[in-house]
Amino acid sequence: MAGEPQADCLFCKIVAGDVPATVVRETETTLAFRDINPQAPTHVLVIPKAHHPDAASLAAAEPKIAADVLREAGEVAAEEKSESYRIVFNTGAGAGQTVFHAHAHVLGGRGLQWPPG
Ligand code: 5GP
Ligand code: ZN
Repeated sequence: MAGEPQADCLFCKIVAGDVPATVVRETETTLAFRDINPQAPTHVLVIPKAHHPDAASLAAAEPKIAADVLREAGEVAAEEKSESYRIVFNTGAGAGQTVFHAHAHVLGGRGLQWPPG
């Protein structure tokens, strides 16, 4: 069922505490932790605690929690003193999504090119 923990999902395991992560922020509905393979000085993932496969599915099922993820992305950037930052939701394998539990990448701490690759 949408929102229920998935046994084979890495980010559900991080939410459950079964896989360790460097957590930077936590709310009732979200968790923010450092990416294991950072692409910028600040590279934090913000996820809903509930399992949804991608950002659009999350927004359709739980719009308030989707807003929580976006607000937390901003809070992470503020804590990291990143005035300019980028929020990325890779969606689909062709766009680089490898973990099918919705997550915002918060990237900052360096110049960010536009358009992205
Ligand atoms: P995606 O490629 O799906 O947009 O993003 C998944 C992200 O999760 C990648 O940037 C990858 O480095 C990160 N990641 C993969 N495994 C782990 C892990 O075990 N711990 C943490 N903290 N990040 C991970
Ligand atoms: Zn999950």
